[in-house]
Amino acid sequence: MAKLALVKWPDPRLKEVSKPVKEITAETRSFIDDMVETMYAENGIGLSAVQVGRMERIVTMDLGSGSERYDTEEVGDLIVMINPEIKEFSEEEMTFKEGCLSFPGQFSDVVRPEKVTVEFLDYNGKKQILHANDLLSICIQHEIDHLNGIVFVDHISKLKRERLLKKLKKADL
Ligand SMILES: [Zn+2]
Repeated sequence: MAKLALVKWPDPRLKEVSKPVKEITAETRSFIDDMVETMYAENGIGLSAVQVGRMERIVTMDLGSGSERYDTEEVGDLIVMINPEIKEFSEEEMTFKEGCLSFPGQFSDVVRPEKVTVEFLDYNGKKQILHANDLLSICIQHEIDHLNGIVFVDHISKLKRERLLKKLKKADL
């Protein structure tokens, strides 16, 4: 396994749409292992393939991984999703202060549907359906957004976005 380099804003790949995985090979699984190692090393609760420079529809999540940063008591479990698709969104919404490994140190309140139903292939290529709520639902939506070239700051007001990106630029100097 190897830790991979993170793709960070303003890298243009973050705005691109990722392609479906056609076949889950040993190489795909080895790449996913590297994604998982990278997610844990960076204390992220989720990671999408584009964030390590591969434009394929793969995400990994473990809510326990960022438990300190996200102040959550949730017990973590590793979830790997290949070609995930959200089938249902709830009407109820929730607000969560989101962050992103591609926007280090920056957080902002984002409003999203509180529950989702998601279909995906797991690490072994088996079709799964998951009903998620609360932080897991938020994390799933955030990561699948990445596969569609959408980042969390696209969900906030222009004013807040500009302020956040300015702070990020300053922190980067
Ligand atoms: Zn992110």
